Amino acid sequence: MSNKNIVLTGDRPTGCLHLGHYVGSLKSRVELQNSNNDCYIMIADIQALSDNFDNPEKVKLNVVEVCKDYISVGIDPEKCTIFIQSLIPALTEITMYYMNLVSVSRLERNPTVKAELQQKKFADSVTAGFLCYPVSQAADITAFKATTVPVGEDQLPLIELTNEIVRRFNRIYHTDILKETDARLSNVQRLVGIDGKAKASKSLNNAIFMNDDKETLKNKVYSMYTDPKHLKVSDPGQVEGNVVFTYLDAFHNNKEEVEDLKNKYRKGGLGDTTIKSLLNQTLQDMLAPIREKRAEISHEYIMDILQTGSKKANIIANETLQQVRDAIGIVYY
Ligand code: ATP
Ligand code: MG
Repeated sequence: MSNKNIVLTGDRPTGCLHLGHYVGSLKSRVELQNSNNDCYIMIADIQALSDNFDNPEKVKLNVVEVCKDYISVGIDPEKCTIFIQSLIPALTEITMYYMNLVSVSRLERNPTVKAELQQKKFADSVTAGFLCYPVSQAADITAFKATTVPVGEDQLPLIELTNEIVRRFNRIYHTDILKETDARLSNVQRLVGIDGKAKASKSLNNAIFMNDDKETLKNKVYSMYTDPKHLKVSDPGQVEGNVVFTYLDAFHNNKEEVEDLKNKYRKGGLGDTTIKSLLNQTLQDMLAPIREKRAEISHEYIMDILQTGSKKANIIANETLQQVRDAIGIVYY
């Protein structure tokens, strides 16, 4: 048996990917693909429909955009299997079996779901589809027997739920076919939004996207939340909660320079324009090659990657589905 790690990650095709994805997950994926792991990357279109069912066009369009983002940051389709969730029917069937292993109140109490319900303002009308997406995520992870799932901090309660389902399934059906998985957090577990809100997110429209053009990027950096009490350059300023410093910490390579700037800012004498200009330059330098690479990627190339990856993913997921049916004992031949 191979002792390779099996890595599964994914994204919802609800928009292009942003800097939160870059530091929270994409960078780890590139490292993991280059260190001899079995890597699967799923574009979760069914999951995206759970809160965008009235806008399927948006989801379909973003499947291609998200895949372009992958290739432009250096994910290599020769090393990773990139696939579309809805092209793998076994995942949906496995989801249905897992649904019986989770109570509705357990789903409602899940911290990730709770935060999203509040953010999306479902009020009393949350759909069964949205409430149950964590179960389908458990199916996605276990279908590939993933041992490692690189995620941002917001996903940790969902990984915990997956492991609960794994333990219940193995106990109830007297098997060990399902494997528990480890969440892998990067050193920036949750990048804040440019508005200072807890998380940069596609849906909150507070993120810098990797394909933002030069001008948009600059405008976003200059509109960043800093310290509202830092009115004059000579005023002492606060570094904690100041988004410009948070992003400099995450993206500027020279940590000593950032520490020096923080000290000056705290004392007074350093203006917001100076730190914003440095951040703008840092991000422009980082994103320029990604933007250039993205512009060269054709639609046909992306479709080819997705077709090939989905074919391969189907084979693996069907094998697990067969094991799941066998373990439950619903085999009719
Ligand atoms: P949506 O608003 O549609 O939920 P999103 O911006 O939250 O989109 P997802 O596709 O849900 O993005 O998340 C994909 C992966 O990226 C997950 O592992 C998630 O934890 C990680 N991620 C998303 N936003 C951030 C962030 N701001 N900081 C760190 N990681 C993040
Ligand atoms: Mg999300």
